[in-house]
Amino acid sequence: MSTRTDAAPGRESELLTKVLGTRSATPLAKLGLETVGDLLRHYPRRYGDPGTLTDMDRLALGEHVTVMARVSRATVRSMRARSGAMLQAVVTDGHHELALTFFAKRPGALRPHEDKLRPGRVGLFTGVVSEYRGTRQLTHPDYIMVGLDADDAEEAMVEASRPIPIYPASSAVPSWRIQRAVRTVLDPLAEDDVVDPVPLEVRARLGLAGRLDTLRSVHRPADAREWQRARDRLRFEEAFVLQAALAQRRARAAEQEATARPPVADGRASVLADFDAALPFTLTEGQRAVGEDIAAELAEARPMQRLLQGEVGSGKTVVALRAMLQVVDAGGQAALLAPTEVLAAQHARTLRQLLGPLAEGGLLGGAEHGTRVALLTGSLGAAARKEAMLQAASGEAGIVVGTHALLSERVQFADLGLVVVDEQHRFGVEQRDALRAKGRAAPHLLVMTATPIPRTVAMTVFGDLETSSLTEVPAGRAGITSHVVPADNPRWMDRTWTRVREEVDAGHRVYVVCPRIHPDADLPSGGAAAKDFDDVPDLLELVDADGAGDKPPLRAVLEVAEMLRETPQLDGLEVAVLHGQMAPADKESAMARFASGEVQVLVSTTVIEVGVDVPEATVMVVFDADRFGLSQLHQLRGRVGRGSAPGLCLLVSTAQPGSPAATRVEALAETTDGFRLATLDLELRSEGDVLGAAQSGRSSSLRLLRVVQDADVIAQARKEATDVVASDLGLDDQPGLQAAIAAQLDDEQEEFLERA
Ligand code: ADP
Ligand code: MG
Repeated sequence: MSTRTDAAPGRESELLTKVLGTRSATPLAKLGLETVGDLLRHYPRRYGDPGTLTDMDRLALGEHVTVMARVSRATVRSMRARSGAMLQAVVTDGHHELALTFFAKRPGALRPHEDKLRPGRVGLFTGVVSEYRGTRQLTHPDYIMVGLDADDAEEAMVEASRPIPIYPASSAVPSWRIQRAVRTVLDPLAEDDVVDPVPLEVRARLGLAGRLDTLRSVHRPADAREWQRARDRLRFEEAFVLQAALAQRRARAAEQEATARPPVADGRASVLADFDAALPFTLTEGQRAVGEDIAAELAEARPMQRLLQGEVGSGKTVVALRAMLQVVDAGGQAALLAPTEVLAAQHARTLRQLLGPLAEGGLLGGAEHGTRVALLTGSLGAAARKEAMLQAASGEAGIVVGTHALLSERVQFADLGLVVVDEQHRFGVEQRDALRAKGRAAPHLLVMTATPIPRTVAMTVFGDLETSSLTEVPAGRAGITSHVVPADNPRWMDRTWTRVREEVDAGHRVYVVCPRIHPDADLPSGGAAAKDFDDVPDLLELVDADGAGDKPPLRAVLEVAEMLRETPQLDGLEVAVLHGQMAPADKESAMARFASGEVQVLVSTTVIEVGVDVPEATVMVVFDADRFGLSQLHQLRGRVGRGSAPGLCLLVSTAQPGSPAATRVEALAETTDGFRLATLDLELRSEGDVLGAAQSGRSSSLRLLRVVQDADVIAQARKEATDVVASDLGLDDQPGLQAAIAAQLDDEQEEFLERA
C-alpha cells in the first residue's frame, strides 16, 4: 500500500519483513506499517502510568480496549456442561470490575495464566469488551503483567517504573507487540540511519533534540516529561514539514506566469462598468475593499492565489462575479466551480439574473458588449453538453459554471484567465491544480469559503493562498433565531409545525433537512446513497463516545415528507423533496418550484447545505441536528434569513441533556458567530479523533498536530519554513526535508483517492 518512503534516505525505507522477519511483520502490515519509518511514526496514542489504573467506567461494548488494572481474584473451574476448564479472573481499577475469561481443554493448560494473574498484581489487558450475564468481560484477553514480563529482574524494575506506551492497536496486534517491534527496530539505529527533516540550524536555534533521540523518547520514555518534550518536538516537525511544502508551493506559484487582466480604463465600454451601473444595491465596504485587492492582483502577470472567506450571505458571489467580468473585459474567460450540481445550476441562474441583458452577448436583445454564461455539469444531455463545451472552447461563453465535470480532460477553454472555486472545503489541492493546469498561462485563482476558517487552519489547509475576509453582511438583514427542539416532546414538535404554518401564511418558505433519504436504507455516508457529494452529511458518528449505538434511527427525507403531508397544521401546503438520488432535471425542478413559491415546504438532504439562495425562505428545520457537525449546521442555518424577514432555525435533537451532542447543538443555538463555531467544531472533532473507537493507524500526515490547539507551533514553523525555502527553493541541501515533503504529498494523494 505505501510506497511513499521508498525514496527516503537513511534506513527508514527498509522493509519490516527484512528487519523483523515475516512472522512479526505480517500483522503490522495490517495496520499499514510496512517500513521502518512507518513503524517509527506509529506513535503511542497515550501512556500508561505504572502507578495509575485505567478508569474502566467508560468501557463500551464491542470496543477494542487496553486497560491497566489490578487483579482481585482468579479461579479455575471445570465446566459441568462440557469437558474442559475455565479460568475466571476479575480485575479492577478500584471502583469498577472487569471479568477476564479463559477456556482450555484441560485445567493444566490454564496454569500459566493462573501463575501470572495473582491477586494484587497489576497488568495491562487488551481485548474486545463483551457482556455475559450483565458483567463486562474480555474473553481470552492478551495481557502483560507489570514487572513480570521483562527479561531479567533489574530490567523488570526499570521497566516497571517507565510510562507504558499504549499504541493504536488491533485485536490482531496488541499494543505491546508493537512496542516490542519498535524496540527491535529502534535499538540498533544510529544517528545516520534516520534523516532529520528539520535542518540543523533550525534545531540549534530552537533548542530541539535530534530526530533519533526524539524517537527514542517518544517510544521509550523514562518519565512523562520525556515523552511530552518529544511530542512537542514531533509536533513542530509535522508543522514544519507541512509549512515547508506550502512555502514551496507559494514560491513556485509566484514564479509562474499568468496573463495580466487589467481593468478597462474609466470611461471605456466594459461589461463590468455596465454591471456596476445596473447593480440594484451598493456594495458593502468589505466588498469594495476586497474587490480592489482582487482587481489589482488580476492586473499582474503573476497568478493571483487568493482565499475569500466570508460569513454565509456576506455577498461573495457579487465579488467573484465582478472579478470574472474584469477578466472577460480583458478578453479572457472565467470558470466557476461549485461542489454540487444543484449549486452549479443555481450559480448559473444567479449569474444570469445578476447580469440580465449582459449575459446575452451576441444574442438578439442582449447588451452590445455582453458575454455568455455556460453551465456544464456531468449530467447534461448530450446536446446541451456539446453546446456548452463548444461555447467554452470558442470563447463565446465568458463564464463557464460547473462541478468537477469541468475538470474533465475534454473540456477546453479558449483563454481561461480566472478560476473561481466556491465553497472550497469540498475541493482538494489536486482539483485546484488540475483546473489551474487548463489555461495556457496559469489562470488566476479565487477560492471562496463560507465556513469561517480560524487563522491557523487557513495557514495549514490553505497555506498556499493569501486570505481576504468579508466581515459584514449587507445591511437590512433581519437575522436568525435558533432553538433546540427535543424530538421526543410532542408539544414542541406540534409547536414547530404551527410556526411553519404561520411562516408560510406570511408568504415565506420552509426547509426541512434530514440526514437520510430512505427510511430503510443504511447511513448515507457510503454505498449507493452517496453517488456524489450531495448527500453526504458530515455526521459526527466519530464523537459518539456519548451514546453506545442505541440511538433512534436517523430521520429520512421520504418518510418525513410523507409525515408532513399528513400533518394537520400543514394541510393544503405543497411539500416537495430534494435529494441526490433524484434525476438532475427533477432536482432542478424541485428547486425552481421552491424558489417560485409553488412549493412552500422543501424536505431535503444536506444537498441544500451550501450556497442555495431563496430569499423568501425563513425557516430551517433540521432533524437529528445532534448528529451533524457544527459547521454544517451553521451552513444549513445560513440558508434562511437572507431576505428582509427574520429567519428561524429549529434544531430537532434526540441528544440526552448534558451529553456532548446536546452541548454542541446548544452552542449553535446560542451564537451565530461562524468563526467561534468553526473553532469549536474543530476542537470537538480533534477530540473525536482522540476518542475514536478505531484504534488502527491513520494515514494522515498529521499525527500529533492539532490545528486549533497548536496555533503557536504552526505559526513558528511557518516562519522557520518560509526562511528555509526562501534561501533554498528546491531544498537541495535538505534531503530529509525533501523526502518528508514527498512522503506527505503521497499521503495526501492517497487520502484524496480514497475519498474520490
Ligand atoms: P454568500 O457570501 O453566502 O455567497 P451571496 O453572494 O449569495 O452570499 O449573497 C447573498 C445575498 O445578498 C444575495 O441575494 C445577494 O444578491 C445579496 N447581496 C450581495 N451583496 C449585497 C449588498 N452589498 N447589498 C445588498 N444585498 C447584497
Ligand atoms: Mg455563495
